Amino acid sequence: MTIELPPLPYALEALEPHISRETLDFHYNKHHSAYVKKTNELVKDTPHAGKSLEELVRTVEPGPLFNNAAQVWNHAFYWHSMSPQKTSLSGKLAEAIQRDFGSEEEFRKVFSQAAMGRFGSGWAWLVKDGGGKLSVVSTPNADNPLRDGKQPLLTCDVWEHAYYIDYRNARDRYVEAFWNVVNWDFAARNYGANEVELPRDEGLRKTG
Ligand code: FE
Repeated sequence: MTIELPPLPYALEALEPHISRETLDFHYNKHHSAYVKKTNELVKDTPHAGKSLEELVRTVEPGPLFNNAAQVWNHAFYWHSMSPQKTSLSGKLAEAIQRDFGSEEEFRKVFSQAAMGRFGSGWAWLVKDGGGKLSVVSTPNADNPLRDGKQPLLTCDVWEHAYYIDYRNARDRYVEAFWNVVNWDFAARNYGANEVELPRDEGLRKTG
């Protein structure tokens, strides 16, 4: 099967002024698109050919194919972790955040610290374990919490390409801006689901 570039769920300029059109244009049309192209090149004629994107992320040994496939998945998940519509934390996810972090404010602090504290390139994640308990993790480079049996609910990309055009080296200003566009509705849907929803509704699990 061919891995496809999933559609960006909003217009390139939709997250302005927090994230510019230029950033999204490079990030989606150049970086994300290149990971898709590279994944398809690398998977060809290997025992992994024919696997869905999520299967690749779960099963491919560390190396270039894993890195590219995981970056396809991670970026698709990241686009949905943000929204031009203002959303707020409510319902069962709000209760779980209260239970596992003490408050929404405390959660934001822990998540921001994970994003800020990741040395070099990587990702900050809100995840749910098999028992439904929430935690924040950060992963280096392309790594994804699915590899550790944790279900992602929300992510922030902290590779420099995510913020350098808008904020130069000020990752802290980018992470602050992320909270202005955070998509709580997406996180809440993932919390309520047994599996993350995005890869399914974006056609990323298509087989054949
Ligand atoms: Fe990125």
